Amino acid sequence: TAKETTADLLIIGAGPGGYVAAIYAAKSGLKVTLVEQSALGGTCLNVGCIPTKALVKSAEVCHNVMNASVFGIESGSPVTVNMKQVIDRKDKIKDRLVSGIDFLMKKNEINVISGQASFMDKNTVTVKGEENYIIKAKNIIVATGSKISNIAIPGIDLPFVLNSTKALSDQDLPKSITIIGGGVIGMEFAFIYKNFGVDVHVIEFMDRLLTMVDSDISKEIQDIAEENNIHIHTGSKVKKIQSSVDGMAVITYENNGGEHLVVSEKVLVAIGREPNLEGLSIEKSGVLLNSNGKGIQADHSMRTNVDNIYAIGDVTNIIQLAHVASHQGIVAVENILGKHKEMNYSAVPNVIFTSPEIASVGIGEDEAKSKDIDIEVSKFSFAGNGKALTMNEPRGFLKLIKNIKTGKIIGGSVIGADASSLISSLTLAIANGFTEKEITETIFPHPTTSETIHEAALDFGIGALHQ
Ligand code: FAD
Repeated sequence: TAKETTADLLIIGAGPGGYVAAIYAAKSGLKVTLVEQSALGGTCLNVGCIPTKALVKSAEVCHNVMNASVFGIESGSPVTVNMKQVIDRKDKIKDRLVSGIDFLMKKNEINVISGQASFMDKNTVTVKGEENYIIKAKNIIVATGSKISNIAIPGIDLPFVLNSTKALSDQDLPKSITIIGGGVIGMEFAFIYKNFGVDVHVIEFMDRLLTMVDSDISKEIQDIAEENNIHIHTGSKVKKIQSSVDGMAVITYENNGGEHLVVSEKVLVAIGREPNLEGLSIEKSGVLLNSNGKGIQADHSMRTNVDNIYAIGDVTNIIQLAHVASHQGIVAVENILGKHKEMNYSAVPNVIFTSPEIASVGIGEDEAKSKDIDIEVSKFSFAGNGKALTMNEPRGFLKLIKNIKTGKIIGGSVIGADASSLISSLTLAIANGFTEKEITETIFPHPTTSETIHEAALDFGIGALHQ
């Protein structure tokens, strides 16, 4: 038997898309039910953004202790990594945030139901869990996120092959690892392992790493990775994974027509994620999928083709970022409330937590050139920034892209110290149509890495002062 219940708004999935939409809707006066089959916080909080950043920090501490002499500190005995404690620390942060969301759900009187939701029709959803439910809802937001993509490589099921979720709970730090995929997740893990002292190989199919950023940034991170003894193999296709007699992973890949081998203790497969529609019976709702069959089709107001059903976050396959999912959730709720809101993707910041960090927003240099936009580019190197030198992070640069016709800054990228924080200022500038003048006339605090923004803007005119 199933309990029957009703809601103004039913949200399926409690990731950064669904749970943020739930809070926003509840604060706006709607009676909200949120269904989650696993844990509050979704991928991002449990096996994505937050856990990876906890490991990034532990690995960075390890690196700094191993290199303490650079800062004038004698660290004494050899550094050891207690991976169990590293993972425990990550879990504590995650648990604290999950219970924080639980608190927010109660505070906002959101009805949270645990179990798997499936559509019966466009207004009715069943939930299978410890208790079963039939929920009738006026409006529904689908926020079921994404799942790890599978790849048919022979040997992918061998015990030493990890995916990102398994790697985040692996208490056994290997001496060597091969990462398949030089995208965001692959490269974040490459630097995590490298900073823990692991010997890392990265095998990437494309001819450069991190294809979503400009090629000069790809090149810089590849140079830095190689200087740090991360072995990068681009333009390379993995053919098979085998186990050697002594239990090591032997990875065969093809490059320029020749076959090559890498041997390592473990393998991490990081080739991407795809929209998750498992168990949802989406066809019963009448909602259409994207033309490639991947994910739910949603327009800029996050509406599907069915008038009362919205889709947000990774399941739409638009942009796989937590803050985009949350913003789409707010736009969906605003439209449900009868306000006319649309997503604007022209200034979405994207951060990659490598060492150093990479961040970009707006139109990239390569993209502008391919679209024949008349642009001027200015760059300022972190080597000319005092704060970056005190941090022992002289590598990288900040780059601004100006539309010559309008004078507006339309894009910005950073590879270097504090990139993840600096990108917010660039996002504000681009989202608000600032020209170089608004930036050059702003006073930036000294000594900070934010002075690179001022310098790059000055470089459009009289020239950067410290370069
Ligand atoms: P999800 O977070 O995937 O949540 C969907 C939820 O829906 C899940 O909890 C799932 O259990 C639930 N669900 C699915 N189907 C059903 C059903 N039928 N019934 C009930 N519940 C269901 N993004 C960033 O912005 N910054 C980062 O630093 C970052 N790092 C990442 C690192 C890793 C290793 C990974 C894997 C991802 C990372 N991401 C990062 C991406 C980010 O996690 C996603 O973009 C984000 O979680 C998408 O949010 P969402 O709400 O759409 O879906």
